[in-house]
Amino acid sequence: MASTNMAAEFKDFADFTQFNAPLGPHTPLGVGGSVEVLVQPRTRDELAAVIRRCSAKQLRYRILGGGGNILVRDEGVVGIVLRLVTPAFTQVSVEKRSVKAGSGATLTALIAHACRNGLAGLESLVGLPGTVGGALLLNAGDRNSDIGQLVRRVEVIDSQGNVQTREHDEIRFTSSGTILDDPVLISAEFSLDNDNRDTITKRLRKAWIQYKATQPFSYQSTARIFKNPPGLNAGALIEQAGLNTTKVGAVAISERNPNCLVVESGATTRDVLRLVDLVRTRVHDRFHIELELAISVW
Ligand SMILES: Cc1cc2nc3c(=O)[nH]c(=O)nc-3n(C[C@H](O)[C@H](O)[C@H](O)COP(=O)(O)OP(=O)(O)OC[C@H]3O[C@@H](n4cnc5c(N)ncnc54)[C@H](O)[C@@H]3O)c2cc1C
Repeated sequence: MASTNMAAEFKDFADFTQFNAPLGPHTPLGVGGSVEVLVQPRTRDELAAVIRRCSAKQLRYRILGGGGNILVRDEGVVGIVLRLVTPAFTQVSVEKRSVKAGSGATLTALIAHACRNGLAGLESLVGLPGTVGGALLLNAGDRNSDIGQLVRRVEVIDSQGNVQTREHDEIRFTSSGTILDDPVLISAEFSLDNDNRDTITKRLRKAWIQYKATQPFSYQSTARIFKNPPGLNAGALIEQAGLNTTKVGAVAISERNPNCLVVESGATTRDVLRLVDLVRTRVHDRFHIELELAISVW
């Protein structure tokens, strides 16, 4: 149950707030309990007002994108979760050689928009699940390129609830994620190159086929489990440890990618965590390597 305090603090925001809202369905895995307060602001002003209230009252909040990197505990999440899913946060627009996308827009929408307008550079990200905000915070990509390299500037909301612009040089893009000193990303502008639409489409198709060949089937509910240890491949270690057919309850290692798990109906977060522990222990016993979780447990 949401505490009486929370209900009182969020009374002004009742039109776009839900209490004890199931959170699992907002993530691809679909498992886990409810969050105390779920806020889905309809405008930047509403978002800013919520951030100001949380800062003033020292209330903990988190931002949920597509949830591809989030595992919600069965007991649920204490505090506030914000989702930026209304049109104010999902628009994509093109101006000359740049594309601007709201942080709640999907990566797919961003890439499709760029391609339609003859703008190249994002092709290697095709197929990755999630939103622009989530992909940027994780600096998604592969060893050769990442989304951060293409960012010209971003708009954020600072902890006082003010909209600020941060240029590329003010942001630290690292291989394990983007370090943003502000709590909420609201949009990002990407510098791209002009190219022929058909050529971009061909590159997209090739990248998509290569990516999908190594991923679980698209009808499966899935998550990438571990980060690759430096110079190594987590999936290969899992396979070499003989774990690629491992199953705990209704959660199994994907037969197409040993570093992904797939959940079947009836799965719980507890099953996921038990499978994670089992894999970690076996890989450690065999190779003395500590695998680090790629997903965050909320
Ligand atoms: C099957 C599968 C395959 C994958 N393959 C790859 C791959 O090949 N390469 C790769 O790099 N990644 C890969 N990923 C990871 C993927 O990049 C991330 O899961 C995805 O980009 C996260 O986006 P999301 O919108 O789901 O973010 P979420 O999981 O919702 O959030 C991720 C983080 O970003 C924060 N966040 C989200 N939006 C905002 C915002 N607006 N402001 C502030 N913080 C925010 C969240 O609080 C959280 O900390 C894969 C994931 C899956 C499930």
